[in-house]
Amino acid sequence: MSSPTPGTEPAEIAPIKPREGKRVLLAKPRGYCAGVDRAVIAVEKALELHGPPVYVRKEIVHNRHVVETLRERGAIFVDETDEVPEGALVVFSAHGVSPAVHAEAAERNLRTIDATCPLVTKVHKEVNRFAKSDYDILLIGHEGHEEVEGTAGEAPEHVQLVDTAEDVDRVTVRDPSKVIWLSQTTLSVDETMERVDQLRERFPEIADPPSDDICYATTNRQVAVKALAPECDLVIVVGSTNSSNSKRLVEVALKAGAKDAHLVDFAHEVDESWLDGVTTVGVTSGASVPDSLVMNLLDWLAERGYGDVDEVTTANEKITFSLPKELRSTVR
Ligand code: SF4
Repeated sequence: MSSPTPGTEPAEIAPIKPREGKRVLLAKPRGYCAGVDRAVIAVEKALELHGPPVYVRKEIVHNRHVVETLRERGAIFVDETDEVPEGALVVFSAHGVSPAVHAEAAERNLRTIDATCPLVTKVHKEVNRFAKSDYDILLIGHEGHEEVEGTAGEAPEHVQLVDTAEDVDRVTVRDPSKVIWLSQTTLSVDETMERVDQLRERFPEIADPPSDDICYATTNRQVAVKALAPECDLVIVVGSTNSSNSKRLVEVALKAGAKDAHLVDFAHEVDESWLDGVTTVGVTSGASVPDSLVMNLLDWLAERGYGDVDEVTTANEKITFSLPKELRSTVR
């Protein structure tokens, strides 16, 4: 996919300049997306306004550094709402929650701030809309991922998860003319389309989502890494191992021609042996990664002779989201 996604301005894609010797190709767009930015600010604002502790259900975004930094400032991360004391303040993460979680929170008189990314909320609404029309919904996504649990929880009796190719054979629908596929927001664009093709072979009348569910940030970061990967002996993706979109960037880089690719949370996790015989290193980062971590990696690489950095820009992102409504009266 090379056309710009909503909230994105197309960039003149300049050909990658040839260079002698060691160098870094730095992907743009990379790092923080609008949904992550909003969710992190929501916790910061909640801490500022209400003081610690502020409870956060699940990791606010899937990044170790971000979670640790917020923990130091007084956020307490819990797995479930029943770990939050009655009446306390809890923030729901960017990945979204099911209606059952909202109901549990209400039962325990919790004060809530919902930092679900608006692009995840959009998929929740699609589930509701098609469930109301009595469709069978085939949700392409990774089993056990929080976003998928929240999305499927909107209408569990209508949603079946399709993760692997085997799942395509396993699903059953009541009426093959009333079936739609939807997806998690952070998947590999290409692999998702493979899964859709497989579903379409089984259910030729399967409907497409009203608009792309894989979000602009996921799509743009994959397009950017694809542009530089064929030139790279090694691609380093900064991101956490539980970050779906970060893991997809490693896979996309390898498929697009990078000779090697790895995911690291921090520069110090790079194994120096990965650099053996490497001339060109590609660098990118997942949508939940602050750019300071990428700058640390560039410094680390510069110390090892990879000081020449060329940015490869495939799009310029303009999208921002307003804060959750519970925080909107406060000025950012
Ligand atoms: S990766 Fe996409 S869906 Fe997830 S928070 Fe960012 S913009 Fe929202």
